[in-house]
Amino acid sequence: MAQLSDDCFAFGGPMLSVDEAVALITARVTAVRETETVSLEQADGRVLAHDIAAPLPLPPFTNSAVDGYAVESRDLPREAERAIPVAGRVPAGASAQAAARGHAVRIFTGAPMPEGTDTVFMQEDVRIDDNGHVVLPPGLRPGANVRPAGEDIPLGHVALKAGQRLRPQDVALAAAFGLARLDVARRIRVAVFSTGDELAAPGTPRAPAQLFDSNRFMLLAMLRRLGCEVDDLGILRDQSAALAKALQKAAAGHDLILTTGGVSTGEEDHVKAGVESVGRLVLWRMAIKPGRPVAMGIIAGTPFIGLPGNPVASFVTFVHVVRPTVLALSGAAITHSLPMPVRAAFSYKKKSGRREYVRVTLRKREDGVLEAVKFPREGAGLLSSLVDTDGLAELGEVVTRVEPGDTIGFLGYASLL
Ligand code: AMP
Ligand code: MG
Repeated sequence: MAQLSDDCFAFGGPMLSVDEAVALITARVTAVRETETVSLEQADGRVLAHDIAAPLPLPPFTNSAVDGYAVESRDLPREAERAIPVAGRVPAGASAQAAARGHAVRIFTGAPMPEGTDTVFMQEDVRIDDNGHVVLPPGLRPGANVRPAGEDIPLGHVALKAGQRLRPQDVALAAAFGLARLDVARRIRVAVFSTGDELAAPGTPRAPAQLFDSNRFMLLAMLRRLGCEVDDLGILRDQSAALAKALQKAAAGHDLILTTGGVSTGEEDHVKAGVESVGRLVLWRMAIKPGRPVAMGIIAGTPFIGLPGNPVASFVTFVHVVRPTVLALSGAAITHSLPMPVRAAFSYKKKSGRREYVRVTLRKREDGVLEAVKFPREGAGLLSSLVDTDGLAELGEVVTRVEPGDTIGFLGYASLL
């Protein structure tokens, strides 16, 4: 079972920057060791367990990049066009034959280059004369329209690294190597709870002072996108003893316990007390807005993360704390997408020393530049602010104000998960 080492509890006091939080997580979380073998069809999104060195070069043999005529470069016309006889025909999949000296070979895309040829004329660039000879225009570069063996990936090159979360193009590469099955890290198992007396599960009756639990379904979906096996353990009520019992039970059989709500320092924030009675806990005051404290801890050897209850704070802290923890537990390399430069269409003031995420929508201006329009309201409880926008503008620690026309960094929602 993965462990967080105890010394992370030294970090209860000062504000943690986002980068410090991620560094602490990666230093202290141990990846699951178990691996499993999956077919290519099941490999998307899984974390590769071992490096893959090219077992064959790509392309495996030198071949034509176009439909046309293969010739030897010494037969290339220099100044005027030149007609040469055609002998032989190599479609894709056919074995290459040797070309007769001074002859062109009819060839198709992907077919192996006939021995003795090194250049291909595109069929659009030639014509066949009355003698059945191919008329070659002057000016083609020797080696044109040929894909040499290994030009994509040489034999033995480490093309996919352990820790890579496989994307469709990575799966394609493994397939191109002829590999049918891949060793991947087993999925991590995450227990998810919501907490709060005010929550009603969708599909059940809602009392007048209740709202439907929305965070749990957001978190379950986000975890699934990260390749986790999730256990939806429902809603815990604001009662520390029962909460503690449920969390302790969840520690067995899960690699991570995730809750939302109840982690501020108010007297109705029962998660803190609950966790402290069965494990160890620290409140991370992160220098991030929206954010509020995030609780990190260990319950019976299993890492615990308690996210704030406000939906937007929950979303943003998931991205910055849960995502890196899940990746570290899964043995995946922690990747960040680089914010894309866009033009601010709003003004904004902020404190230095903390990172802020502003919900924005993108629009394209006549000059082709993308402009970020800020969602008109700021509350961390506004689900519409996540639904009706395209992503987050990232305003770094040193920024204190944004004016219309400034260049700011934009992170699309898809790139954050
Ligand atoms: P808390 O962090 O428990 O103090 O909750 C902060 C705010 O988030 C309160 O208004 C809660 O009602 C709301 N909230 C807490 N949990 C959820 C949830 N699972 N879904 C939607 N809203 C929530
Ligand atoms: Mg609460």
